[in-house]
Order: sequence, then structure tokens, then C-alpha cells
Amino acid sequence: MPPLPSDKPVYRFAPSPNGRLHLGHALSAFENHDRAGAAGGRFLLRMEDIDTARCTPAFEAAIYEDLAWLGLRWEEPVRRQSEHFPLYEAALTRLREMDLVYPAFLTRGDVKARVTAAEQAGSVWPRDPDGSPLYPEDDRNRSDSERRALMAGGARFAVRLDMAKALDKIGRPLAWTETGDGRTGRIEADPSTWGDVILSRSDAPSSYHLSVTLDDAAQGITHVVRGQDLFEATSVHRLLQSLLDLPQPVYHHHRLVLGADGRKLSKSDNSTGLATLRDQGLAAGDIRRLVGL
Ligand code: GLU
Repeated sequence: MPPLPSDKPVYRFAPSPNGRLHLGHALSAFENHDRAGAAGGRFLLRMEDIDTARCTPAFEAAIYEDLAWLGLRWEEPVRRQSEHFPLYEAALTRLREMDLVYPAFLTRGDVKARVTAAEQAGSVWPRDPDGSPLYPEDDRNRSDSERRALMAGGARFAVRLDMAKALDKIGRPLAWTETGDGRTGRIEADPSTWGDVILSRSDAPSSYHLSVTLDDAAQGITHVVRGQDLFEATSVHRLLQSLLDLPQPVYHHHRLVLGADGRKLSKSDNSTGLATLRDQGLAAGDIRRLVGL
């Protein structure tokens, strides 16, 4: 059940416990925490742990430790996505009943081989805003009997959104309200650039796009504050909100903390990790300054 609408703004920081937090996470956590505080709102924490193979209780515990060290306090209990798989499955069923999803049998390797062959033959394979190749059309138009036969033969499959059908179903332009560090105002969503996005994997019953959208609604999030690298993904989230009758939060995509090489920070680079900086004797105030607050 979604929470009752409240007049308090609700913010969330939503890390994945698949590695240690770095300075980029610290900026995001501060941005959410400080904005919630300034607005007299709530600050929630959510563990985005649908990838149960890579997310561990030890990383989760380390996140609590790092955030507490930064001086942040959040509401309990913390929501864990791995405890809400039935919510995501129910949404998938709804989309299936609307005939907007299909089983996708090509493996990552199959797609890669297809793209390489096309590119070697001189054609340009379309890519999504993150640079990943769009999913080929093969599975979209298979007959039900063909799908059943593949499944009966034990073929593993993901579930993908049929983007063209979904856009047709909505039948009107979508937009979101943006207050972040880049473009602001009403931003026109362009979900088609993502192609047939994945909604569940053969090894995980949800995807980032599906679970983030459903959880923001389930937690009554009014303000999504996150890094600029997720700006374009908001188009997909708006589309899912519209298909599933979910409320629209306001979005604020903040600048990214970049490394010395000018690139986005990575969890595998320990030098910008909060634990490393703490061990070097830095304090929360130093971290605020390092991220430009
Ligand atoms: N879990 C995502 C990440 O760690 C953030 C999702 C979001 O804020 O929407 O990058």
C-alpha cells in the first residue's frame, strides 16, 4: 500500500550495497539529507540490492557506518529492495496483462556478436544514452507458441518492455519537473532512446528501472535527488509511472564528483573511498569541502 500523501517532502538516498561508498555517494547523501532538513522533510535510506549476487550484508553494514560518520541520520526501518520482489513481480504481471512486455531470449553475448557483425559490415547500431546497444528486434515479434517452445526447452529469458507499444499506449508526450544542476524546468521525456528496456533478468526478478520507480512511489518520495548520470534514465521512469499510475516526484540531478582523470568515480578506486579518507584522518567537514559543499 502506498503511504498516505503527507505535506512533508520526502527524500531518499538509494545506494547499492555492492561496494564501498565514495565521494560521489557522499555528495548525493548530503544533498538529500540537507535538502530534507531545510524543507522540514523526511530523509529515507534505501538499499538497492536486487542483484543479490553482488550485494552483501557486509557492504550494507559499511554504508551505515560511512553515513553515520558523515553525521547523517535517517529513518528506520531502511527499505531493502530484496525484500520487495513480489511488488516488482506484480507490476510485471500488470504490464504483461497490458501486452506491453515480452520474453527476451538473447544473451549479452548474442547481442554483442550481432552488434559487432553489423558494425563490421559498416552499419551503425543504435545505442542508448549510456552507450549500450539497443536490444535487437528478434524476440519482439515471436509467436506465443514459439515462446512457449523456447521456454519448454529450458531457454533462459529476461523480460523487456515493448517500447513502441508502451509509447502508443500512453499516446501523449511525457515530461518531468527538474530543479537540478543542468537543464531545469519541464523536461520532455524521450524514453524511445532507451529501446526495449529490461524489466527483469533471468537471475533477478526486477531491474533498476522497474524497482526504483516502484519504490519511489511505495515510499512516497516527493523529491528524487541523485547524480546527473541518471538524468536520461528519468525518461524511462516517467514512462513506467505513467503506465502504472504512479505519482510523479520532482527530480533534481546534481553535478557529479569527478576523479583526477575527469571521469565519474568508481567503487573500485579506493583513493576516493570514504573509508580510505576516514583512515587518513579526514572528518565529515573535510568530506563536505572535498565535494564542494
Ligand atoms: N542505486 C542507484 C545507484 O547507486 C541510485 C538510484 C537512484 O538514485 O535513482 O547508482
